[in-house]
Amino acid sequence: MHRDVVVCEVGPRDGLQIVSHIMPTSAKLEWIGAEAAAGVSEIEACSFVPPQVLPQFADAAEVVAGALKIPNLVVSVLIPNLKGAERAFQAGVHKINYVLSASESHNLKNVRRSTHESLEDFRRIVELRNSNTEWRRIQLCGSVSTAFGCTIEGKVAEDAVVRLAEQYVEHGADKLSIADTVGYANPAQVKRMFTRLRAQLGGIELSGHFHDTRGLGLANVHAALDAGVRSFDASLGGMGGCPWAPGATGNIVTEDLVFLLEAGGLRTGIDLERLIEVRKIVERALPKEPLHGGISKAGLPLGFQPAVS
Ligand code: ZN
Repeated sequence: MHRDVVVCEVGPRDGLQIVSHIMPTSAKLEWIGAEAAAGVSEIEACSFVPPQVLPQFADAAEVVAGALKIPNLVVSVLIPNLKGAERAFQAGVHKINYVLSASESHNLKNVRRSTHESLEDFRRIVELRNSNTEWRRIQLCGSVSTAFGCTIEGKVAEDAVVRLAEQYVEHGADKLSIADTVGYANPAQVKRMFTRLRAQLGGIELSGHFHDTRGLGLANVHAALDAGVRSFDASLGGMGGCPWAPGATGNIVTEDLVFLLEAGGLRTGIDLERLIEVRKIVERALPKEPLHGGISKAGLPLGFQPAVS
């Protein structure tokens, strides 16, 4: 199937990350399976972090094993360090998203070391991947968090983000993800950043990760599309919230993102009505978690036609 834009569902990772109620493994796999059946081609299934840090992901290996049984689904996971990478490689994932922050203070808080140390660890992860023939097919995506601003440092210099992206490429990243972790970005800034990255990085695939904390999530997607980005993360029902903004939505809503893209003639390969149905699985498993989204509440516009293949 041809897709103009790849939509990666990150709800089972970014969405569940700040949910204290542990979602049963069976419900996570039902969720992942139902989204894949609706046409989602890539899902970030979990995080390989120590269970004492995030008990929500104590079942990471089991979730990956289940997700890998789904045909044609790219199973990706988030990892913060070499230890996590080892576990992810052994679990047989297709793709790893390695996380570091453009803001030094955020990196220290999030992964307890300097940005430089995080980059050095990424280099070791590339070496480890390349040392094993079976692992060489695993894609390594370098993610730059807080790329558009930080709740601790405020402004983040665009130059610093570009430099980190260049270093990722020098160290062997296959892809890059540029993330507005805290929902600070605006469309003008997003367009400028991605235009510059595309011009300076020589064609490496770039993906956008936006949060809708301040209501600009989909506007930022549109700005990134204008700059040529064709891969985006999103979370079913905008799950995840933000620990610093109670009541605000978290990631951009997958259903609304698919609507934006399909309505604009960009094929995602995702059946929107089937995708909306998947919310029921999450609602059943986590009845107290608020789910957001416009299209699921208001329904599809009369006469709506998805992009034609
Ligand atoms: Zn996020």
